[in-house]
Amino acid sequence: MYRHFLLYQGYAEDQTLACVLLSHEEGFKTPEEAMESFYGFLRSRAEILASDWDPCCEQVRREHPDASYCMKCGFSLERPDIVDELVVTVWENIWTGTIDSLGGKFWEAMQDVGWAFGEGIGWRFGKAAAIFRADQYFDRPDGNTLERLLWEDIRT
Ligand SMILES: [Zn+2]
Repeated sequence: MYRHFLLYQGYAEDQTLACVLLSHEEGFKTPEEAMESFYGFLRSRAEILASDWDPCCEQVRREHPDASYCMKCGFSLERPDIVDELVVTVWENIWTGTIDSLGGKFWEAMQDVGWAFGEGIGWRFGKAAAIFRADQYFDRPDGNTLERLLWEDIRT
């Protein structure tokens, strides 16, 4: 089972030197299954962000349930696509974040679905894969999915 994943961002000369290391306690048969699982986790966090309205928008939604935009800040109150955008934000928060900036609830939610940062259960258990261009894979404005997942084995 694949349990360890080293996620890179960028392409060619722009590929990052640092990586995000993820592990999963159960593991997956393929890196594709694993990254779809992690995408699902990012998406669940994005849905929480999307439901967290600014006070002005919340007030406009309450007083004018049919409004399409917030009359105070101009933000769209119809958010069918915003979850997709926020997935990228959540990923960037991981990329640039710290233990404190992500917060305890984030860690707990991640552990609830078996994911952890770092090597988790230990390197000697399970297969490892490098995931390239993770930023592109998690950004799905056109609904693309697995054809953008680029990976190779680190250890089989
Ligand atoms: Zn507003």
